[in-house]
Amino acid sequence: MAGRTRGGTNSRCPACGHPLLTQWVGDVAAIQATVTLPPPGQHLPYPQAAAEQTPNDLVWCLPRLPHRALRLRWTSNRHPPDCPHQHLTTHKCPTQPLF
Ligand SMILES: [Zn+2]
Ligand SMILES: [Zn+2]
Repeated sequence: MAGRTRGGTNSRCPACGHPLLTQWVGDVAAIQATVTLPPPGQHLPYPQAAAEQTPNDLVWCLPRLPHRALRLRWTSNRHPPDCPHQHLTTHKCPTQPLF
């Protein structure tokens, strides 16, 4: 599949204006994830995100590493609950009705 943007795209939701991070995640079977991009200092522990997880809404781990582009990472249910990174689920646009 050519044309995948690996570096990630920072943008804003055209509907609600939340900052978004959209990128392909995974090296073998990549899927495109769009999350609400939180402020760097926001504490978003894994158990909290996992509680909102559904089969169609995975939890992503977002390390904030100095001098590196933002890169979402897969989580599994063995993800360490005390992982210090930010944990995100798919952007749920408050301007769109949930279905
Ligand atoms: Zn994590
Ligand atoms: Zn939105």
